[in-house]
Amino acid sequence: MYFSELGLSNKLLKAIKRSGYEEATPIQAETIPMVLEGQDVIGQAQTGTGKTAAFGLPIIEHVDIDNPAIQALIISPTRELAIQTEEELFRLGKEKRVKIQVVYGGADIRRQIRSLEKNPQILVGTPGRLRDHLRRGTVDISRVKTLVLDEADEMLKMGFLEDIEDIIKQTPSERQTLLFSATMPPEIKRIGVQFMHDPQTVKIKAKELTTDLVDQYYVRAKDYEKFDIMTRLIDVQDPDLTIVFGRTKRRVDELSRGLIARGYNAAGIHGDLTQDRRSKIMRRFKEGQLDILVATDVAARGLDISGVTHVYNYDIPSDPDSYVHRIGRTGRAGHHGVSLTFVTPNEMDYLHEIEKLTRVRMLPMKPPTEEEAFRGQVASAYNDIDTLVADPATNRYQEDAAKLLEKYDAIELVSALLNDLTKDDASQVPVKITPERPLPSRKRNGRGGNYRRGRGNSRRNYHRNGGDGHRRFNGDRKRRFSKNRNRRHED
Ligand code: ADP
Ligand code: MG
Repeated sequence: MYFSELGLSNKLLKAIKRSGYEEATPIQAETIPMVLEGQDVIGQAQTGTGKTAAFGLPIIEHVDIDNPAIQALIISPTRELAIQTEEELFRLGKEKRVKIQVVYGGADIRRQIRSLEKNPQILVGTPGRLRDHLRRGTVDISRVKTLVLDEADEMLKMGFLEDIEDIIKQTPSERQTLLFSATMPPEIKRIGVQFMHDPQTVKIKAKELTTDLVDQYYVRAKDYEKFDIMTRLIDVQDPDLTIVFGRTKRRVDELSRGLIARGYNAAGIHGDLTQDRRSKIMRRFKEGQLDILVATDVAARGLDISGVTHVYNYDIPSDPDSYVHRIGRTGRAGHHGVSLTFVTPNEMDYLHEIEKLTRVRMLPMKPPTEEEAFRGQVASAYNDIDTLVADPATNRYQEDAAKLLEKYDAIELVSALLNDLTKDDASQVPVKITPERPLPSRKRNGRGGNYRRGRGNSRRNYHRNGGDGHRRFNGDRKRRFSKNRNRRHED
């Protein structure tokens, strides 16, 4: 469906065109006309399906730019999401010159108050900080026409229900209310009943999940084996941009520290870091200056980062929805992705639960040997060398190169370069990751009776990768030269 068929004005169509969107996504096609008509909508669709523009476009359409009041309020669960939403709305509302502001915790409140004095017409905020501003009287939401609860399930999980209810009550009761959520637990339905007027439900079915574009693998390993296996896998798979998910904040800290110790260009984000630090890390990752982002579910929820090639689930998530969210970070916008999930032997039932939801069977992957990891490293160094040699700046060094060649022979020099470009093997740099309690064992009767075991697609992979069902690596490498170079600039 084209955006021009949805009843949007030319200014918005222009902004959409500038964003490079060709067609509306399914949730946008269904939601935009309803919101334009003024209806309340409950939208259920997975991450990455374009929900921001689904509510953002009609909201911008409705803003009266001569009216200085806050006309739309969007409540977002995390700072990152709030910022991301504000950025997208800003982009879409630029032609129309709509004023947008974002408020979130962990940032200087006085500065936010000063910005709020500039009369934003759309406000995006996290529940805690919004409530804070309301208490101080620095935000007036009494003339809000549209209220959006974005990622409502996540906000409930984070315990924001009370904050949200408090905020809703300060908006006019005749407002339009929109609620977006990836899942629909009963509490969300209750919010729908309590705070919405005859809401229309738009549900985009799971088969439109982005997971179709993701090759999904798992490695069965004991908790203490996982880190060494993961770094060897990274060496062999040579991912471009990677997100590693850990179950706890401590995990995230230890994993990022361990990765850095082994020479990877990695950093972690979770809720305990300052906003400033998190934003910095996110920016570096988005710009491709950081290869590996380690994150908790909450920190990474809904983040829109393009070009993520690999997702490693260092810990298998306890609920299948989180899994879908996590691997939805890759395989976006038509690009192919790879996900790899570590499963300890007693967590196998969780894997089957996930497979039931995604209706795709994950393929087992064998941990690479030290030798395979080493070959992977060397192959990637070849690539780096291509890039290095192609750099015109190398001309400046010809004289010195000749001098060095008098002192050493070429084999020695190149070996030294290779040694420098390759990282130490897992076994060389011991990293200790504190054991995390495995997920509680699940009682299930029988296993996996009623889901289709894989699609044709997966089965093809199965054969291609050799009869034992383990995927073999053949090094499909097109990496930027960055890892070792950046390593030296790491903090
Ligand atoms: P969600 O909130 O459902 O997780 P987002 O609104 O964050 O999804 O959108 C995910 C990505 O898709 C963003 O980069 C956004 O700019 C992009 N996007 C949104 N709508 C379209 C569209 N119609 N065509 C192409 N890309 C889109
Ligand atoms: Mg979103």
